[in-house]
Amino acid sequence: PADLSADLDARARELDAHVFHSWSAQAQHPSLVIASGRGCRVWDHAGREWLDVSSQMVNTNIGHQHPSVVSAIREQAELLTTVAPATVNLARGEAARRIVSHAPAGFQKVFFTNGGADAVENAIRMARLHTGRDKILSTYRSYHGNTGAAIVATGDWRRIPNEFARGHVHFFGPYLYRSEFWATSPEQEAERALRHLSRVIEAEGPASIAAVLLETVPGTAGILVPPPGYLAGVRELCDRHGILLILDEVMCGFGRTGRWLALDGYDVRPDLITFAKGVNSGYVPVGGVIVSEQVAATFDERVFPGGLTYSGHPLAMASIVAALDAMESEGIVDNARRIGAEAIAPGLAALADRHAVIGEVRGEGVFWAIEFVVDRATREPVPASTIARIKAALVDRGVLPFTAENRIHFVPPCIVTAEEVDEAIAVFDEVLGSTDWARA
Ligand code: PLP
Repeated sequence: PADLSADLDARARELDAHVFHSWSAQAQHPSLVIASGRGCRVWDHAGREWLDVSSQMVNTNIGHQHPSVVSAIREQAELLTTVAPATVNLARGEAARRIVSHAPAGFQKVFFTNGGADAVENAIRMARLHTGRDKILSTYRSYHGNTGAAIVATGDWRRIPNEFARGHVHFFGPYLYRSEFWATSPEQEAERALRHLSRVIEAEGPASIAAVLLETVPGTAGILVPPPGYLAGVRELCDRHGILLILDEVMCGFGRTGRWLALDGYDVRPDLITFAKGVNSGYVPVGGVIVSEQVAATFDERVFPGGLTYSGHPLAMASIVAALDAMESEGIVDNARRIGAEAIAPGLAALADRHAVIGEVRGEGVFWAIEFVVDRATREPVPASTIARIKAALVDRGVLPFTAENRIHFVPPCIVTAEEVDEAIAVFDEVLGSTDWARA
């Protein structure tokens, strides 16, 4: 725990008046102060503790303050804190080699960015230059980041006030619980969602489409694990029309699903893969694009018209090397898979049995959504205000959740133990039993 001083918490809240916050009206300030962390726990300055089942922004896959990652950053800082991208740097090569070792065969190069949005931005640019085509197809239920093209590729409400980039078309992906296709089985949902995409491609003109951009498992949109056959079917449609497939692994990659990459669970090989978050658990901001040999070859002799001052920043690179090595040597990805199957799945299923306000729980690894409804028969979502009050009650009892619309996402670090999962679920049980949330 940090300096045991409630005064510092008050001081932090006072100084927050100078901070302009993301995605919010500025008259409302967050109230939760986080001063330090370790593993799955965080503390304020006064020593008040929270069990973090949000992984902050679903990114601290290795947990807070992993000692070997912290020392790697410290050692790199002593050697060289920054360097121009057009230089050769050992830490950068070591990071890139480790990343491609987790990609499918045929991926040998990594373009490093500052985070997830600019990874998506550059993947879109590569796809357009490689194909000579313009349009990018992505789903309504998606989040791809907050830069010019990434926010317009995003499907949710955040796209609408930001529609300045052109060439973006949206379609519906599979989501059986709220099917757009009147489907009643995963097979039917996959088949009908593919038929819908095929019609959108035909109607838009296949020769105008550079890429289909999909989160392998859509995250913020609700942890929508794709039904069997869907991703392979998308690949087939892309191949038929010379369209590239970009898989966005920013949230679902590097351990979150209990696999190194989420795409490892499917019979699909994309052309470009975007990553960020879990690659180094956000200890230093970084993201990137893993580039297939075919797309990379386009830029063998032709200049790639893109770059960033901090592409391959040494502190970020050192943190990637240490984070991936620790994940490997400590079996952290395997832990995510095992805890998901043995603790989270049964724990959340029991919670759903006990509380009718839960319409569905779904997920895999340490990547789960709890969907709240007013009525199980109509599946009407609870209002966002109900979720805000459930969240406040959880935070009050020492559990930090991730919320989105009518859902709470149960997304702890990949290092979480079965005891920590049980502890958090017991708090959920207490909060959900404390009132009738469907009517509250
Ligand atoms: N892509 C996906 C799937 C994401 O979940 C996010 C962020 O949540 C992004 C892209 C954007 O990443 P960043 O916030 O690092 O720019």
